[in-house]
Amino acid sequence: MNEKELKHIIDCNAEKMIEKLGLGEWQIEFNYEIPDGNDKDVTFRGCCGAHFQSKRVIITFDPRKLATEEKVISVLRHELVHLIVMTFRRYRHAAHKLFETTSLSTTDPAFVVLDAVFQSAIEEITYDICRILEKQ
Ligand SMILES: [Zn+2]
Repeated sequence: MNEKELKHIIDCNAEKMIEKLGLGEWQIEFNYEIPDGNDKDVTFRGCCGAHFQSKRVIITFDPRKLATEEKVISVLRHELVHLIVMTFRRYRHAAHKLFETTSLSTTDPAFVVLDAVFQSAIEEITYDICRILEKQ
């Protein structure tokens, strides 16, 4: 899909979805350029770089991996649902602080494992919420 088509689909659907999900307090920016270093990531279709305290986010889409309108809407929904579960980032932030203020570091295997479990749980709850929303 080309960038213009992708942008059009986002323009037609984002506002309605943001309102439905109650994300009106967020400053949401959409980006259609592939971030550096993601050329070889075969799973990347979209990602969100969010700051939960200031409620600002940049959601990036990879036009090369989004072939249909249905897929674009699905990725848009997934990235927006990430904002709903963003409050769990407080746990990661606290764990980060804890490791930084002790003799451990965030490269410690204990932190790496905890962070992997955290990331996995975030993806699972995001998928579950999306599954529920898709049935409505
Ligand atoms: Zn995700």
